[in-house]
Amino acid sequence: MDMLVIAPHPDDAELGMGGTIAKMISAGWEVGILDLTSGEPTPHGSEALRAEETAAASKALGVSWRQNAGLPNRSLQHTLEARAIVAGYIRQTRPRWLFAPYWKDAHPDHVVATELVEAARFWAKLSKTDLPGEPFHPERIYYYYCIHLRLAVQPSWIVDISEQWDRKLEAIRCFESQFITGRPSEPPTLLDRFRDDAAYWGRLINRRYGEPFATREPLAVTSLRDFF
Ligand SMILES: [Zn+2]
Repeated sequence: MDMLVIAPHPDDAELGMGGTIAKMISAGWEVGILDLTSGEPTPHGSEALRAEETAAASKALGVSWRQNAGLPNRSLQHTLEARAIVAGYIRQTRPRWLFAPYWKDAHPDHVVATELVEAARFWAKLSKTDLPGEPFHPERIYYYYCIHLRLAVQPSWIVDISEQWDRKLEAIRCFESQFITGRPSEPPTLLDRFRDDAAYWGRLINRRYGEPFATREPLAVTSLRDFF
C-alpha cells in the first residue's frame, strides 16, 4: 500500500483529504482508509446508516481497502491495547506513508488519534512482540486538516484538487446523516462551506481548489521541478 489514511471517524478522511485520495488512486497508487471508531452516536446517524454511507463514500473515491478498528467513539483513548490494534493494521497493510489528523483540535478523539497513530507507527517496527505480521516502519507520517477549531494553520503544502473536487463533494454527500440532514438548507449550506474552504486553499496556490497538509519533518523532493 502506498498511503494509509487513519481517521478518528468515518467522514474525516473524506473531509480532510478526499480530493488527494481520489487523485492518487487515479494516478495508480494504492490508498487505504482505517477508521478508528464507528463515529456513532450522532444526532441523525446510526451504526447501520453510517456504515452504508461509509461504503458509498469509499466507492465514490475508488478506495478498495477500508476497515474499522472498532475503538470507542467519543471516548477514544491512547491505551496500549489501542496502540497494538493500530500497529497491527500498519503491519498488515505496510503503507509507505501514513496520514493522521492535524495535531491541534477541539475534538478529543482527533487529538488522541494523532498521538495513537504516531505511537503505533513506532510500535509497528518492533521485533520480538506478539503483534501480528512482520515489523514495518512507514517512511513518513503526514497530517491532513479535519479540524474542529477555527484555526488558520499555515500548511506545509497544498495539493491541487481542482479536478477532484466533484468526486470529493460526491463522497462527502454520501454522509447525508452528518452533513445534510438537520443542517441549514439555505445558502451557505455546510457543503457550500466545504467548497469555500477548498477554494481558499486553492487560491493560495493559484488553483481552483486545494487541500492543505502539514508535516513535522522536512519534505524531500527529487527535483525543484516538482514545485509549482
Ligand atoms: Zn472526526
